[in-house]
Amino acid sequence: MNVFDIKKAVVIGSGVMGSAIAAHMANSGLKVLLLDIVPNKLTEEEEGKGLTLKNSVVRNRIVNMAKERIINTKSMMLYTPSNSELIEYGNLEDDIEHLRDADWIVEVIVEDLKIKESLFAKISPYINEKTLLSSNTSGISINEMSKVIPEELRERFFGSHFFNPVRFMKLIEIIPNEKTREDVVEYMTEFCDKRLGKGVVVAKDNPGFIANRIGAVSFFSVLHRMNKPGFSIEEVDALSGILIGRPRTGTFRLLDMIGIDTIVKLAAYLKAHTNDELEKDILTLPDYFNKMVENGMLGDKSRQGFYKKVKKPERATYTLDLKTFEYESKKSVKMEFLAGLKKVRKFEEKLNQAVYSETLEGQFLWEVVKDTLLFVGKLIPEVSDNVISIDSAMKWGYNWEYGPFELWDMIGVEKSVERMKKEGDEIPAFVAEILESGKKSFYEDVVVTEDKLTPEMLLNSEKAVQSSKVGSLFDIGDGVACYVLHSPNSTINDEVIESIYNALDEVRANYKGMVFASAGKNFCIGANLDFVLKNAKEEKWELLDETVKAFQDVNMAIKYFEKPVVAAPYGMTLGGGAEIVLHSHKVRAHAETYMGLVEIGVGLLPAGGGTKELLLNMTESVGGNKNIDLSPFVQGAFEAITRAVVSGSGPDAKAKGLLESHDAIVINKDNQLFKAKQDVLELAETMPLKNSKKMHRVGGNGLEALLKYVAYQMKEGKFISEYDANIVNKIAHVLTGGGVRDDSLVTEQHLLDLEREAFMNLLRETKTQDRMEQMLMTGKPLRN
Ligand code: NAD
Repeated sequence: MNVFDIKKAVVIGSGVMGSAIAAHMANSGLKVLLLDIVPNKLTEEEEGKGLTLKNSVVRNRIVNMAKERIINTKSMMLYTPSNSELIEYGNLEDDIEHLRDADWIVEVIVEDLKIKESLFAKISPYINEKTLLSSNTSGISINEMSKVIPEELRERFFGSHFFNPVRFMKLIEIIPNEKTREDVVEYMTEFCDKRLGKGVVVAKDNPGFIANRIGAVSFFSVLHRMNKPGFSIEEVDALSGILIGRPRTGTFRLLDMIGIDTIVKLAAYLKAHTNDELEKDILTLPDYFNKMVENGMLGDKSRQGFYKKVKKPERATYTLDLKTFEYESKKSVKMEFLAGLKKVRKFEEKLNQAVYSETLEGQFLWEVVKDTLLFVGKLIPEVSDNVISIDSAMKWGYNWEYGPFELWDMIGVEKSVERMKKEGDEIPAFVAEILESGKKSFYEDVVVTEDKLTPEMLLNSEKAVQSSKVGSLFDIGDGVACYVLHSPNSTINDEVIESIYNALDEVRANYKGMVFASAGKNFCIGANLDFVLKNAKEEKWELLDETVKAFQDVNMAIKYFEKPVVAAPYGMTLGGGAEIVLHSHKVRAHAETYMGLVEIGVGLLPAGGGTKELLLNMTESVGGNKNIDLSPFVQGAFEAITRAVVSGSGPDAKAKGLLESHDAIVINKDNQLFKAKQDVLELAETMPLKNSKKMHRVGGNGLEALLKYVAYQMKEGKFISEYDANIVNKIAHVLTGGGVRDDSLVTEQHLLDLEREAFMNLLRETKTQDRMEQMLMTGKPLRN
C-alpha cells in the first residue's frame, strides 16, 4: 500500500495554466481548491459599488475570473459542466488554512524564481506531513527552488510540468529534485497516468527539462538551415511538417501559435543555461525575432506574426517578408519535390526519399533532421535515461507523429551515422555505443506492458488471426479477441461489414468475447459517403438498400451476439460509428470521445439501427410500464438526432444519453484496450442472453403528431429550413413506431424497416444529395 492517496488538490495560481490544471483535476474526479492572490487595489467598478479591499468579492476577484473561464463551455476545459462542482475558489490570505487538508499542492504562479520562493516560504508551515508539493515551472531548476523548502518537505517536492492546453496535451514531465523520494515519483507516475490520463515522462532537473529543450533546438535549426537554399516561409512550412513526422503546421505557423515572445524567452533562457556550444549556436536567434517582439508581431495572440490573417475587406492571409518586414500575400507552394513524394503512401518510405534526396529540399531536410538527431543523441544519459522518454515527450508535448529516435530508426541508424561522419559530425557516445554493440535499432529491447497495448500496436505486429484491407482480428490473450477497424478514414463500407461478420464467426468458435477497436485517428466517422452519393446519383437503389440492410443486420448481429462485444470508441465517433457503439454490449469510451448521430447534416437519418437503438436506450427503462408517459424519453432521442448532438467528451456522451449508465470511461487512451478487455472477461461471466423477439412499446400517432408540431414550430421560427422539417418529420415517424396506435408494441425489425424506408426516400431527394456533396467537398454541412 502506498502512503499517498490524492483525493483533494490545491492549485495555487489561477492563470492560463492553473485554471486549466484545476479543471482537468476536476475532470478526473478530484476535489480541487483553486487559489490566487488578493488584489491590492480596487477597480473603478468596485469603488463605484462602494466595495473595499475587505469584501470577499474583491478578495477573490482574480480567482473568480478563472472561474468564469473554467465554466465557459467555449474554453473546453471541462469534460462536462457538472465537473465544475468539484472546484472551490479562494485566496491565499483567507483560505491558506485549507492547505492543511490537501493531498497535493501544485504551484502554478508566474515564472519567477524569487516570487516562487517567497510563495513556498509562505505556504510551507501549512503543509502537512503527507502532502505532495509540486511546481509547474517550465524550466526553473527544481533543485534551486527546493532550497527554500523545509528539509522534511523536500522529499515530497518535485516538478510537475503540464503542457498547454492541459486537457488535450498528453505530456506531463515529472522532475524529482535531489531529495525527492523514489516512492513519490512512482506514485505520481501512476497517478498522472491512470487518474489524470497523462503520458508521464520522468525528466532530470535540466534547463527546459526534455520537451521544450528539444522543441527549441528543432525549431531554430530549421530557421538557420533555410538560409542556404533561400526557402520562403511558406516553403519551409510545407517541408518541415508531416513529411518529417512533425505537426502539419510546419515551423513558422507553429511559432505563431506558441507566441513569438514566449519562444524568444525560451531560447534566451536555454542558451544562458547550456554549456553545449552547438546548442548555443542553434539557439542564437535570427535578428528578426527581436524586431517582431518590438513591433508587437507576437503571433496568434496579437493576430500577426509570421502570418497575418485578415477578414476585411475580404478574407486573406499574408506572410511576413523577413527582409522588408512587410506583409505580402501568402503564396501557394509549388515544389516538384513535394509533388513527387505525394504518390508515396507509407510515411517511412516518404521520409527516406525526402532526407536522402540530392535536391536542395532533400539537403535541407537532411540537415534539419540531422541537427535534432545529433542533439537528442547527446541528451542520454544527462537529460533522460532512455529513448522512449525522449520520443514520448516530443509526441505528447509537441504533437510529433514520431519521436526523434523512431525517426532515426526509420532512416537507418547505420546508414545515417555513416553520412554524418563523412560530413564531419561528432557522433554522440550513446549512439556510437548502440552501433558498437551490434544493435541496428534504438527500439530493439523495448517491451510493452499489457496495460498499454494499443490497436495500432496490434496492427503493426502483423499477427492477425484474420486480416483484410479494412478490419483485422487479433488474439489479445485470456480468450479475448480484438477487432481493429482500419479502413480509409475509419469509414464503413461493405468490406468492413464482411470483416465484422468474419470476426464474429471466429469469436463464436474460439473466444470468450471481443473488443471492437479502431486504429484510425478517429474511431469511426460513419458510412462511406462517397459510395452512397455515387450510387444515389446513378440511381442504384437496390444496391443501396441492400447495403443499409447489411449494416443494420451486422449491428443486430453484434447486439444479439452470444458473447460480449465491448466497443472502445475515441475521437470522432459519428453516424455509423455511433451506431456500432450503440449496439455493443458495453462501451469503454475514451474521455475524448465526440459521439453523435449527425446524419441530418447530410440530409439523412441514422439507418444502421441508430434511430431505433437510441430510442430503445432512452425508453427501455420504462418500456414495460404502461403507467409511465414515454414522450419525454422519446423526445430525448428525437432531440439528439434532429439536432445532430455530438458529445464534447466521453462523460458528456453519458450525460447526453448517447452512452448508457453501465458504460464506462477511461481517461488514458493507452489503457483503453486493456480496460475493454477486462470488461469482456467480466461480461463473459455475467452477461444474460438477450431476446431479439422482444416487443417494444412506442408512442404511436399521438406522439408523432406532437413531435411534428415541434418541427413545424421550429420551421416557422426559422430555426430550421423547410427541408430540415421534412427530415425531422420522417425521424418523428420512425421514433414513434410509424403510424401505429398510441402505446403499440412493435418489434425491433419493424423499427429498422421504418428507418431504412425513410433513409431510402431521403436519398432520392436532390437536396439530400446536395448536402452530401457539400460535405464531401468542404467537410461542412449545407443547410438547404
Ligand atoms: P499566468 O500569468 O497566466 O498566471 C499566473 C497566475 O499567478 C496569475 O493568476 C497571478 O495572479 C498568479 N500569481 C502571481 N503572483 C502570485 C503569487 N505571489 N502568489 C500566488 N499567485 C500569484 O501564467 P501561466 O501561463 O499560467 O504560467 C504559470 C506557470 O506555469 C509558470 O511557471 C509557467 O512557466 C508555467 N507554464 C506555462 C505554460 C503556458 O503555456 N502558459 C506551459 C507550461 C508551464
